[in-house]
Amino acid sequence: MPQNRIFFFDTTLRDGEQSPGCSMTHQEKLALAHSLADLGVDILEAGFAIASDGDFAAISAVAQEVRGPKVASLARARREDIERAAKAVEKAERPRIHVFLASSDIHLEYKLKITRDEALEQAAKMVALARTYADDVEFSPEDATRTDPEFLCQFVGAAIGAGATTINLPDTVGYATPEDYAGMFRIILERVPGAERVILSTHCHDDLGLAVANTLAAIRAGARQVECTINGIGERAGNAALEEIAAAIKVRADVFPYENNLKLEKLYPVSQQLAGTISFGAAPNKAVVGANAFAHEAGIHQHGVLSNPLTYEIMTPVSVGVPANRMVLGKHSGRTALRSRLHELGYRLSAEDLDIAYRAFTELADRKKAIYDQDLINLVAHHQRHEDLISTETTTS
Ligand code: MN
Repeated sequence: MPQNRIFFFDTTLRDGEQSPGCSMTHQEKLALAHSLADLGVDILEAGFAIASDGDFAAISAVAQEVRGPKVASLARARREDIERAAKAVEKAERPRIHVFLASSDIHLEYKLKITRDEALEQAAKMVALARTYADDVEFSPEDATRTDPEFLCQFVGAAIGAGATTINLPDTVGYATPEDYAGMFRIILERVPGAERVILSTHCHDDLGLAVANTLAAIRAGARQVECTINGIGERAGNAALEEIAAAIKVRADVFPYENNLKLEKLYPVSQQLAGTISFGAAPNKAVVGANAFAHEAGIHQHGVLSNPLTYEIMTPVSVGVPANRMVLGKHSGRTALRSRLHELGYRLSAEDLDIAYRAFTELADRKKAIYDQDLINLVAHHQRHEDLISTETTTS
């Protein structure tokens, strides 16, 4: 196994999409999948095939159309789930089936109502079944971080014995600290025969704001696949943010001397595309892709950055795809500035539509101090949804 390479497993279309305000249409999922492939993610988890016909159709379309990344479908450790997942990814260049089964006592007792022995048997049987459909099978003991370590080792051992090629250890509920999480990977590597032959993977949730920190700690303890989402979307407080992990590995290559396949300059455009697709964007102060991530307001900082950006910037905006020398859009900006920013954001408006957008923009600029890209995306999206309404309003006012 290549020990100096980090594999990025993107689950924006699965864990991300299943969270509030994040549902996407078939076309939107496909468009994002293409952008994620261009970004260079190694594995695309395109959905949960048995969850709905829509999910199945989206995974199948991604598997058929998108080239580059492996394409994965999630599946519970059940025959019908695995068969559905296998069918959904069958047209992929390199299909993966991702099987999960809870391992913590609280999940076994209250959710699944099975014993540890039954869980062990089910995990091994279903991983073996998945291997009859795909050479690439990932197994996740759900709620790994709240599982008795002794039992977790047995469980992981059973999955490896049955043919799992990637073992993902999820912090499903966002409970772990970096020390806990790294410790779990060390235990697995020390005690489970065969663990050194598979790829160990992280999957962290941000309930305590530790998802990225936990992911990075696990990399140092031997994890080589990281599961993450654009803008950190996902269940509850979200997943580890892909762009933050990627930037941390790049900026701190001294502690993370590992290669990966990402084109970092695509981070901001993909982040913006996702924000324009779902119902919210990244917070302005969000690391790497937030509107203020490279903004300097204090005089001392501005002076420093103008003399030498390295005084207050640990990476350049351009390196993560944030357009350089950004003009500040406000109420004094003209149509040309607006058109050029919309152009950067991927919108090509006709002269007539630009007029309408410009009027809406000046109204907004009167009310709001700073206009963020997200405001412009909302403005154009709102216009596209209510085109008729707006044109009536503008002709009568
Ligand atoms: Mn999750």
